[in-house]
Amino acid sequence: MSNTRPTIEEYMMNIALTVRSRANCKGSKVGAVLAREGHIVSTGYNGTPHNMPNCDEGGCVRCSDRKKFPKGTAYDLCICVHAEQNALLSAARFGISVEGSLLYSTIRPCFSCAKEMLQAGIKGVRFLHEWVPENKNLNDEYSRLLGYFPNGVVFVKASDENKAWALSSKINKTDQSNKNVSSDE
Ligand SMILES: [Zn+2]
Ligand SMILES: [Zn+2]
Repeated sequence: MSNTRPTIEEYMMNIALTVRSRANCKGSKVGAVLAREGHIVSTGYNGTPHNMPNCDEGGCVRCSDRKKFPKGTAYDLCICVHAEQNALLSAARFGISVEGSLLYSTIRPCFSCAKEMLQAGIKGVRFLHEWVPENKNLNDEYSRLLGYFPNGVVFVKASDENKAWALSSKINKTDQSNKNVSSDE
């Protein structure tokens, strides 16, 4: 641990990494922080809904059978709530406005999370690890969707000691942050 004061972006991403430690999904583990004007208004990590068996206890049929449902597909059948969705939903549950917030996530958001964030008025996304659509033909559509965030979707550098635990092997392979954080890992 260095005693250099982190930037606000490093600070938020480090908190997102701590939030991720509670994730319970057999796929990638993700943490998210929603911040408005530099203040945290909500957090979320991925896993099954409240009062349901956890994903690693067989709580999600889709996650339990990855052969039948390959990575990046059948999200509509998956009952694991994504970290970004949980951050939005916790805010809704407790009546906190998220309009104009920035969302910090340990992985770049999927299609569903991106569209939900846009509709909730999230102004921008800061991410650590890459996520890319499984179907390469959707790359343009994904870029188009992310292009609607007024403050952009931007990589934030952070050291991630638990990356091997958190990322599915597929994401690990394509992750662009490999190069950027290798010096401090
Ligand atoms: Zn799951
Ligand atoms: Zn998502």
